[in-house]
Amino acid sequence: MSTATTFYNFIDGRWVPSVSGEVFENRNPADTGDLIGLFQKSNAADATRAIDSAQRAYDHWRLVPAPKRAELLFRAAQLLADRKEALARDMTREMGKVLDETRGDVQEAIDMTYFMAGEGRRQYGQTVPSELRDKFAMSVRQPLGVCGIITPWNFPMAIPSWKIIPALVCGNTVVFKPATLTPLSALNFVKILEEAGIPPGVVNLVTGGGGDVGNALLVHDTVRVVSFTGSTEVGRTVSQAAAPSFKKVHLEMGGKNVIMIMDDANLELAVEGCLWGGFGTTGQRCTAASRVVVHEKVYASFLEQFVARARALRVGNGLDAASQVGPSVSRGQLETVMKYVSIGQQEGARLACGGHPLTNGTLANGFFHEPTVFADVAPSMRIAQEEIFGPVVSVIPARSYEDAVAIGNGVQYGLSASIYTQDVNRAFSAMRDLYTGIFYVNAPTIGAEVHLPFGGTKATGNGHREAGTAALDVFSEWKSVYVDFSGKLQRAQIDAAEL
Ligand code: NAD
Repeated sequence: MSTATTFYNFIDGRWVPSVSGEVFENRNPADTGDLIGLFQKSNAADATRAIDSAQRAYDHWRLVPAPKRAELLFRAAQLLADRKEALARDMTREMGKVLDETRGDVQEAIDMTYFMAGEGRRQYGQTVPSELRDKFAMSVRQPLGVCGIITPWNFPMAIPSWKIIPALVCGNTVVFKPATLTPLSALNFVKILEEAGIPPGVVNLVTGGGGDVGNALLVHDTVRVVSFTGSTEVGRTVSQAAAPSFKKVHLEMGGKNVIMIMDDANLELAVEGCLWGGFGTTGQRCTAASRVVVHEKVYASFLEQFVARARALRVGNGLDAASQVGPSVSRGQLETVMKYVSIGQQEGARLACGGHPLTNGTLANGFFHEPTVFADVAPSMRIAQEEIFGPVVSVIPARSYEDAVAIGNGVQYGLSASIYTQDVNRAFSAMRDLYTGIFYVNAPTIGAEVHLPFGGTKATGNGHREAGTAALDVFSEWKSVYVDFSGKLQRAQIDAAEL
């Protein structure tokens, strides 16, 4: 018998086991001997119970005035801030990224919760002049109902907060299915919402697999919005499964982001940016700078400095303050990294550093890999086209600015891009020419602020955005309202007699 702690689903304000009677393990990817806990391996029946509970709660929650809903969210933000360190430690333990980064993840959730709670007193609509006398015309935001929230493991608290908090402030209720690799952070977040006083049924948590719990949310008629962040492959399935019931579907998917380094760039700054953008979160960010396109005039110099810095990165357990790069999140993810290292070599790219898993000493029980740089990469190679989601950066030479832009745009994804240059004209041209949802000048492709929209184009997103007030557009819909106070039947068209 295992002595590990068992964690439960949260349905209708109670912590309950799955009807399946089954659980799954959550282990530390830096040390697989460390069992974090057992979580409910839920199925479609659990999801249905949660949806029913969210639907009942919606009847009440939608009528709570938005500023009152927001008061509970402000309380939740404060609780997150009070517990930031403990929440970050739990997160590092379950998914591996270094503590500085998990603190940043929790901070994103704090910032988003404060920001969105503020929207409780805004959620502006429009008032416009009516075509008719003694008539008032306006549009107001309305909640949609039950929202299915499906999230990945790489930002286990930030991404759920980006979805759940705007859903709540708009008056919706939620069924939340987190990634199976990070159920503890999801549970910690939901516990704080419970403690802040969010009423029973308004937020429900169901842990378990995508094919079981996730799919149940996609096909149930009652769920009116699905907000999904994850891989492009699964996003396509989500989109198809949700289509027959005409749900609003918000998709944030994969990336193959580019940093372009021009011949006039501050190289020291560019190296620093590529290091953080490429190897931060062990390369497991949707915004990771996995491609670096360098002007041929500064290519050799950049490469030499970048490789030296990548070699010097300290890989280790994220709970150790000395570590700069943690493990891959799972054995499967580490195997993907190893597979792409071998693909890159077969394709003829030059392995400039790294290329091997790390298994010595304290790293033996984790999923560690050397920070890896491929040089002389051709834009068409698979390592330059496909999302690897690990500590692997492809460096690609370019002849000119135009060449760099063509390479930058030459992938199926469109999340984030960046340029290093001291020429303001080039910087603005690149901002216009890169077909991505996010763009940086003299900074890496990572690092979002919660009050600006976040999301991508092409195979990264389907036109919606999270964060900023754009998130309100996902979780509300417009109702146009006409109030006629003339006391008589007015014809819809103005004619001379009525003027
Ligand atoms: P994933 O697609 O494997 O899983 C995402 C979520 O979908 C998980 O909760 C999973 O259980 C669920 N799921 C899987 N199959 C499902 C199905 N058939 N029906 C419903 N739900 C299902 O992604 P992941 O490995 O957790 O995360 C990594 C991916 O997420 C990368 O591709 C990364 O780029 C992407 N990501 C994108 C953004 C963004 O904002 N664009 C942010 C973070 C991560």
